Amino acid sequence: MPQRHIPQRTCVACRSERPKREMVRIVRAPDGAVGVDSTGKRSGRGAYLCLQPACWQTALKRHALDKALKTELSAADREALTAFGAAQATGVVGDERQERG
Ligand SMILES: [Zn+2]
Repeated sequence: MPQRHIPQRTCVACRSERPKREMVRIVRAPDGAVGVDSTGKRSGRGAYLCLQPACWQTALKRHALDKALKTELSAADREALTAFGAAQATGVVGDERQERG
């Protein structure tokens, strides 16, 4: 069976490639606001991270997101992203995986 092409994205922290839907997109909007893009459809410059707390910590610690988004994250942005990343561990923010279709 021919495999269908699955779009892959690279995690800015661990550099591994994964299917887009297994990643979280962080976007810098044209107005400079940085946030998690849960729909994957927001316009702006995007960066991807695995759904793993370690990757979020690494990305924030190494300023990998700042570099990928070509901006400087504000303290508030960092706090929000740290919280989001930490929540991956507890499953609070885990978005429901859509395995159908
Ligand atoms: Zn990663």
